[in-house]
Amino acid sequence: MGFDVIIIGGGINGAGIARDAALRGMRVCLLEQDDLCSATSRWCSRLIHGGLRYLEFAEFGLVRESLRERETLLRIAPHLVRPLPLLIPLRAGDRRGRATIRAGLWLYDLLSAGKSVPAHRMLDPAAALREMPGLAAAGLRGAASYHDAQATFPERLVLENLLAARAAGAAIRLHTRAERVLVEGGRVTGVVARDRRTGAGATLSAPLVVNAAGPWVDQLLGMLAGRRLRRFIGGAKGTHIVVDVLPGLGASACYAEAGADGRPFFVIPWNGMTLIGTTDIPCAGDPAAVHSDPAEIDYLLAEVGRLFPAARLSREDIRYSYVGVRPLPAAGGKDQAAITRRHAIRHHRGVARGLYSIIGGKLTTYRSLAEEVVDRLVRRLGREFASCSTAREPLPGALADPVPLAADLTARCGLEAAVATRLVGLYGSRAADVAALVGRDSGLAAPLGSGHAIAAEVVFAFEAELATTLADCLMRRTMLGLGPDLGATVLDEALGVAAGYLGWDAARRATERAGVLAETAALRLAAQS
Ligand SMILES: Cc1cc2nc3c(=O)[nH]c(=O)nc-3n(C[C@H](O)[C@H](O)[C@H](O)COP(=O)(O)OP(=O)(O)OC[C@H]3O[C@@H](n4cnc5c(N)ncnc54)[C@H](O)[C@@H]3O)c2cc1C
Repeated sequence: MGFDVIIIGGGINGAGIARDAALRGMRVCLLEQDDLCSATSRWCSRLIHGGLRYLEFAEFGLVRESLRERETLLRIAPHLVRPLPLLIPLRAGDRRGRATIRAGLWLYDLLSAGKSVPAHRMLDPAAALREMPGLAAAGLRGAASYHDAQATFPERLVLENLLAARAAGAAIRLHTRAERVLVEGGRVTGVVARDRRTGAGATLSAPLVVNAAGPWVDQLLGMLAGRRLRRFIGGAKGTHIVVDVLPGLGASACYAEAGADGRPFFVIPWNGMTLIGTTDIPCAGDPAAVHSDPAEIDYLLAEVGRLFPAARLSREDIRYSYVGVRPLPAAGGKDQAAITRRHAIRHHRGVARGLYSIIGGKLTTYRSLAEEVVDRLVRRLGREFASCSTAREPLPGALADPVPLAADLTARCGLEAAVATRLVGLYGSRAADVAALVGRDSGLAAPLGSGHAIAAEVVFAFEAELATTLADCLMRRTMLGLGPDLGATVLDEALGVAAGYLGWDAARRATERAGVLAETAALRLAAQS
């Protein structure tokens, strides 16, 4: 089957490139070996940020680009990316003093001129403790308050990029692995792919291939038979822990300098809990096999204990934990923190003309990265395409004000107010499509577990959101699998709904149940390391 471009990798970068290319009119195919957003793009800090600390490395261009993209995402995806207040506590003896932080934030505000979030404020110790009462009071000299943004669920950001790409004609093949990149006469000609569920293989042809495989970029390049390419990625793993709402954190995230090594350290209100991270440790080998070390968990607990001593956090408090591998550019022994977070686009013109690899990047800048990549693809194809529209086209569920739609779903569809609020909060304007399923079958208004999720969401995941397994549905669509109990209380009900809708027999039910348990066990296990 012929395409203009085959994109390998269904993380944020692959999804962003697919959307951009499809909207411009290219024939696009995206391959993802697992489910969408099953790697780095979900195991991150979930911040859409300018990167205040990059100012120290004089990366003004990256900060300006990130701040511009933050604003773009707040505009095109207001249901998925929301402003987040942050507080930087200032203490006697910090490596960066009050004057440095103030100067940095002044520059940060300047570089984001025209932004929609408030400018920074400097707080005295009493005001700092009013905003974040749990902060250790001893030695507190005050705090700096500023705003960035948060993508609570990058999983859904990836999904909505893929839905937009599909609506514009792209073929999205999940659970399909690129096994080989085909090259003839020094030019890329396509990809051999295999569906991991059915085992079926296929040869897909295209004059352009984008390797957006994140930490697997080098592994994929290793598939260019007979060619040895230099290593592009220098992976660095980062672990986060998830705990119940940290007493004394309040509504802002805390951004501090780690006591042990001066690295940036975040304590973030997230998904009705608190997300704490991260470590930054060089790692090699198969990214799928990476795991957290006990010392990483100790480090995170010690740092949060230093900042919020009264919370007395211990291993028993950890709900779960996750680890991701930053696909940073290989930098030969350079300090991890100093390695640029700027992306690079490599054209392997010497060995496979038409093959491009994405090195590095941030969740925050995926859209501008995609625009840059697709501009290059357009030049390479040498044909006329529409211009880039991704900075102005809203994502499919974009909804600036959730309140009227939630009220409408309650009044018109008879959904409880809390259910309507959940649906609009998660699906944006597409909550109306979830509610329409209830109109079709009132049984789908049945609650799942004791929260506000409903059965219709399970059907919606399979019918309209590219889910093919129960794990896809719980972990990366309804997001129930990232709740405090990792979805344990809704598992059997959701399984019943999916099995009824899709006609799963007993063996399939058992497989699907086991699939979810395997994913959640990995998150629990990581926390026990
Ligand atoms: C700990 C940590 C914290 C971070 N925090 C932030 C943050 O707060 N803000 C921010 O902006 N950025 C952050 N980042 C960076 C950001 O998460 C990454 O830069 C970004 O997610 C990379 O996306 P990607 O699409 O390139 O890679 P991935 O999301 O890893 O996607 C690559 C995909 O390719 C697939 N794949 C691989 N090989 C094949 C194959 N042969 N066939 C088919 N598919 C294949 C994989 O399964 C994977 O899904 C963080 C990263 C980490 C690790």
